[in-house]
Amino acid sequence: MIFHVLTIFPEFFAGPFAHGVVKRAQDAGLLDIRIHNLRDWTFDRHRTVDDRPFGGAEGMVLKPEPIFLAVESIWPERKPDTKVVLLSAQGRMFDQAMANQLCREGELLLICGRYEGVDERVAEHLADQELSIGNYVLSGGELAAAVVIDAVARLLPGVLGNQSSAEFESFQDAGHGEGLLDCPHWTRPADFRGWKVPEVLLNGNHQEIRQFRKRAALEKTARLRPDLMK
Ligand code: SAM
Repeated sequence: MIFHVLTIFPEFFAGPFAHGVVKRAQDAGLLDIRIHNLRDWTFDRHRTVDDRPFGGAEGMVLKPEPIFLAVESIWPERKPDTKVVLLSAQGRMFDQAMANQLCREGELLLICGRYEGVDERVAEHLADQELSIGNYVLSGGELAAAVVIDAVARLLPGVLGNQSSAEFESFQDAGHGEGLLDCPHWTRPADFRGWKVPEVLLNGNHQEIRQFRKRAALEKTARLRPDLMK
């Protein structure tokens, strides 16, 4: 899968994708993350990407021209399995179900806003979707884009070493997850400061372990996220 990110801070992305699962997946050629500098589609001396809002207000707004030109030059023709996503606090909430949908696309293009936001014509006439990663306001779309890419990338075939690990994670409807939280996990030592690992996990009886995990996932979901029990 190919991810394109349109940003005025391309250097931001040196960190988030240089480690762990996403780094290994890139090295293995399972995904390709292309960072594009929005200023490459400006033509004035100052490489201007923003301007004052019509009607007067605080702050600056990202102009439509460089964004439209960038998308049209990255994709001179739109293929059906491509999506333009505008990161926005006002967008639909990104969740695991949405990650499952997006991982079926061939290419995603993520537009990172800054300042007071992005000229509304981008949301209306260019983006297929406005996505928010939560009910709070970030300074820019870069962190949000990194979150979306990470969550989608780990669902791509072959990205996680053990394919079932994505299936059995929190919020997944497939496998025993059924949209619940994942079950709790423990590792060695079996006794840490007197806090013991549940006995059933040590006895090697796989059926009992499966049942215990199912119960533990339900209990934890009911306690921490009762909204998911529906
Ligand atoms: N004036 C906007 C508002 O109140 O909705 C906030 C603009 S914010 C300071 C600048 C940019 O950060 C946005 O254009 C968007 O790309 C990004 N952003 C902020 N919060 C976000 C969130 N919760 N999810 C995704 N992107 C977000």
